[in-house]
Amino acid sequence: MQSVVILGAGHAGFQCAAALRQQGFTGDVSLVSEERGLPYQRPPLSKAYLLGKTCVADLAFRAEAFFSEHRITLISHAAEHIDRGAQRVTLGNGESLAYDYLVIATGSRPRALPVAGAGLAGVLPLQTLDDADRLLAALAGCTRVAVIGAGFIGLEFAASARLLGHDVTVVDIADRPMARVLSPECAVAFTNAHRALGTKLLLQTGVERLEGEDGKVAAVVTTRGERIPADLVLVGIGAIPRVELAMEAGLAVDNGIVVDAMLRTADPRVSAIGDVASFPRRDGGPRVRLESVQNATDQARAVAARIAGHAALPYEAVPWFWSDQGRLKLQIAGLRGDADECVVTGDVTAGNFSVLCISDGMLCAVESVNRPADHMLARRLLARQTRVSPDNVREPGFTLKML
Ligand SMILES: Cc1cc2nc3c(=O)[nH]c(=O)nc-3n(C[C@H](O)[C@H](O)[C@H](O)COP(=O)(O)OP(=O)(O)OC[C@H]3O[C@@H](n4cnc5c(N)ncnc54)[C@H](O)[C@@H]3O)c2cc1C
Repeated sequence: MQSVVILGAGHAGFQCAAALRQQGFTGDVSLVSEERGLPYQRPPLSKAYLLGKTCVADLAFRAEAFFSEHRITLISHAAEHIDRGAQRVTLGNGESLAYDYLVIATGSRPRALPVAGAGLAGVLPLQTLDDADRLLAALAGCTRVAVIGAGFIGLEFAASARLLGHDVTVVDIADRPMARVLSPECAVAFTNAHRALGTKLLLQTGVERLEGEDGKVAAVVTTRGERIPADLVLVGIGAIPRVELAMEAGLAVDNGIVVDAMLRTADPRVSAIGDVASFPRRDGGPRVRLESVQNATDQARAVAARIAGHAALPYEAVPWFWSDQGRLKLQIAGLRGDADECVVTGDVTAGNFSVLCISDGMLCAVESVNRPADHMLARRLLARQTRVSPDNVREPGFTLKML
């Protein structure tokens, strides 16, 4: 009987195990997790879970019985070594598992803040359920919160902390929020919305150091010399892929584990999926590594189908992503990359609009704010590669449906 070992039980790992069974795979499936408890969803950690709108039991992808019913062996130990020659993985408890197929889904870890004081108590990341619980405990005893990094996680946390009544200051070196991903046209709405919520947003501002008292953080000192008192500091300055096991096993790494269009490494028995995988784009552009639930689950399904013996097709899903920040729901379809033009349709001030990003006359991404219908249409338009003229989009009465 064939066996599949999956390293990591996050969105990609869990979905791969579940999809193997859905696709009729009858061999052994082992899901190896270094985290305690049942595999769980991460997006609510910065939103509903912080706001007390969901609980641990609801975060779990499935109840415990699902794993035994589907013969998925959940192993709660870290994987420590991959021996590709022997096709075995060694775990932290000294045991080892044999595999016919290995799927690496080890995700990413938060980037550490490289300044003095980053090790003080009260300086926390947000990646795991344990992190969220630590943040909730810290929020309960504090009023002044500083967030370093105006990316998705930083801003979602900032919005939640503000809604919980805390004083919140966000510091970012970039000139706009979510600058790495979002168009300037769309970022304006988020700058305004966070400020309207009462959050202090300090842009083009770096962090010089963190100051503490009795080992606990007390303030953030910015590169502009400002001292921001804070009892809690959330660090959200990006994530780095967890590639160590793959590197040690001699697999190629380039901002993630290098895989081909089938999500296979150079070793046909080893695949990588989710946040940790660096894969070729369907449009022939430079390879990408994406951090999103859609990417993790769609790649998991693609690899499961291949292992289960179904026709192996190149991974070509249109990437999409969402982020909830206060009253704004952002949905992004496609990759903005080097768009040469971004055109707004709708009402930015009212927080109800979409930004169409165009590259060489082709639609390459659509950022929608509080417009779920536009987002769904955009995914279809991007899948069939749609030509678009910026002048048409600017015409009064334009809607995405016209495309
Ligand atoms: C707070 C937060 C909010 C988010 N919000 C959104 C959102 O709104 N929308 C969206 O699309 N995306 C969101 N994301 C991103 C999304 O959750 C990730 O892209 C997704 O979880 C990636 O899935 P993954 O399985 O690749 O990695 P992960 O879900 O990170 O899972 C990797 C797992 O592997 C484990 N692991 C690592 N090394 C080992 C080892 N050696 N042995 C055993 N286990 C190991 C890790 O502990 C982890 O449990 C959010 C992420 C966070 C942290």
